[in-house]
Formats: sequence, C-alpha cells, structure tokens
Amino acid sequence: MTLSTHSCVVKGKHEVEVISQRVTYQGEGTLVKISRGVICGSDLHYYQHGKVGNYAIQMPMILGHEVIGTVEKTNISVLKLGQKVAINPSKACGECQYCLADDTNQCLAMRFFGSAMMCPDVDGGGTQYKIVDSAQCVPFESSLDDRIMVFAEPLAVCLHALNQAGGVADKRVFVSGVGPIGCLLVAAAKASGAKEIICSDISARALALAENLGASVTLLADDEMMFYRAQKGFFDVSFEASGHPSALTRCIDVTRAKGCIVQVGMGGDIPQFPMMTVIAKALRIVGTFRFTHEFTTAVEWLASGTINPLALFSGEYSYREVDEALQFAGDKQRASKVQLVF
Ligand SMILES: [Zn+2]
Ligand SMILES: [Zn+2]
Repeated sequence: MTLSTHSCVVKGKHEVEVISQRVTYQGEGTLVKISRGVICGSDLHYYQHGKVGNYAIQMPMILGHEVIGTVEKTNISVLKLGQKVAINPSKACGECQYCLADDTNQCLAMRFFGSAMMCPDVDGGGTQYKIVDSAQCVPFESSLDDRIMVFAEPLAVCLHALNQAGGVADKRVFVSGVGPIGCLLVAAAKASGAKEIICSDISARALALAENLGASVTLLADDEMMFYRAQKGFFDVSFEASGHPSALTRCIDVTRAKGCIVQVGMGGDIPQFPMMTVIAKALRIVGTFRFTHEFTTAVEWLASGTINPLALFSGEYSYREVDEALQFAGDKQRASKVQLVF
C-alpha cells in the first residue's frame, strides 16, 4: 500500500517547509496515521540554529519526536486498526551491550525520531503517515484527550530523571528552571510523593505554571536562598533543568550533604566548578538522558489522570502552519507547549 503524506521538514536555520512524500507499507511494522505532535526544545534548536549542540542537520529532516496517532496497518495482533497509540520515538538496536543490559537509552545505534545525532539524520514524526516498529506503539483508550496524551514523551524524560535520583518519595525537592520539562518534573515529583517541591526560575510566568502543577514554593532566580543554604543545604534531591551554569552551582549550595543533583537541562561548562563543595558534602551529581521503560509508565500516568499537563498547552496549529507554530513556540514569554495537528 502506498500513500502520500505531507511532512514538516527542517532544512537549516529558519528554513522549514511542508513537503509531499510517499510512504509504502509492505507488511513490516505498523503504519500510523499521525494525529498530533508537540514542538519540543530540540525541534526549536534545529529551527533556530540548524543544530542541537554539535549535531547539525546534514540534509532536510522531518521534525518532531513527540507524536501520537492511530493504527492504519500493523503486523501484530495486539494492535487493532483504528487503535490510538503514543509513539515511543526511540528505536534502539536491541543487540548492543547497553540494549542487552536494558539501558536502551544508551544504545550504540539508537535511531531517535527527528535527530541529527546519527548520520544520516533520522526523520521525525512530523508527518501524516509514518511506519514505525510495532514495539514503538503504546496503545491508549480512544476516549482520552489527545492534547494530554501527546505529553507522553516529555513526561517519560522526567520520570527517567526521577529514577536517576533514586526516587523522591518523602523527599524535599528543588527544581531549578521550570520550562515545560521543569514543570512536568514538578508534577511527576508531586505524584511520586515528594514532601516539598520548591522551584526557581527567572520568569514569573513559568513559576505560576509550576505552582499550578504542584510546586509548594516558588522563587525568582535572583532571590536569596540563604535559608536553603544553611546547615549544608536543605534539599534531598535537586533537579537542574535550566541548563544555566550558575544554576548548577546554586544546586550544589542548597542540596544537603549526601544529597543528589540530577542535571536535566543541557548545560554548558562551568568556569569555576565548586569541586571542593561536591567532595566535602559527598554529593552525588548524575546526568539523565531520554528514557527507557518510562515511556509506557508516562502513557499510563496520563491515561489515569495521575498527572494532568494541560496547563502547559499553549495552543495548536495545523501542520501547514509549522513555521508560525515554531515561531510562536520560540516566544518563551507567551508559549509553553505548542501542538501541531496533522
Ligand atoms: Zn521532547
Ligand atoms: Zn543497542
């Protein structure tokens, strides 16, 4: 079966286009009719800079890794035609040492939607029809709100970060930087039984959203945190989600001795890293990257209403208006999560 599909393609800095392509399904995997996608920070980076970190687009690439849709054709019986599915954008090889150890997010041959990390670039989900591995499809009830279910991927990122910290139940949690990921971290920490969740950000608007999603206290980034620095720090776990170097230094100050800091935001180098403080307080600083099994958990949490991320929904555009949608999503004064309808 061959279908024509319209795809949102990024060609370089500020160059995005809707193109017409053909998709041929030959009985392998699952053909999904994409219904909705969300613009993520990495999509914005490709649009604004033509690259994410050191990974520049090498050829026109379909954007997007946060997508849901319905099953059109499939090779497995657990999926039904018309079934709604959230698509896990990670396709791990299943054979390398990391896959065999269940650390699929570290796969040596990972093909992740809409990413220029591999050569050639891996196309994303910003298209009307896409063939994926059937294992990438996580079904959900058709009565559920698509605007909510499409948050599965960023929520999975947050659940993985929580796991990297060893959980947050009964803990005092600090979230530094409450963009969409920071806000979802707040919601996930709350749902996981955190005792207190305190957030900081430079934007009052972002802090209001964090409060909406469960923050106990919000602070502007230049507020003094003297109280939280006393006695070697206040927080059991800090999540640094802003990527700003000075924010990690602050986390090191306000996390109690033997506490844990998870670096979630894509940060740069820190010129004067306070190594002595890390050593003397015996802090554990860990990175976090994408997710593994947490994707399925994220779908379950959204389906059950454990987390409702709708406060982060800033509006939707037709895929034909992808350029406008990206511009709006890039305006952090106005937009959190902007969705595309296919
Ligand atoms: Zn994302
Ligand atoms: Zn692998």
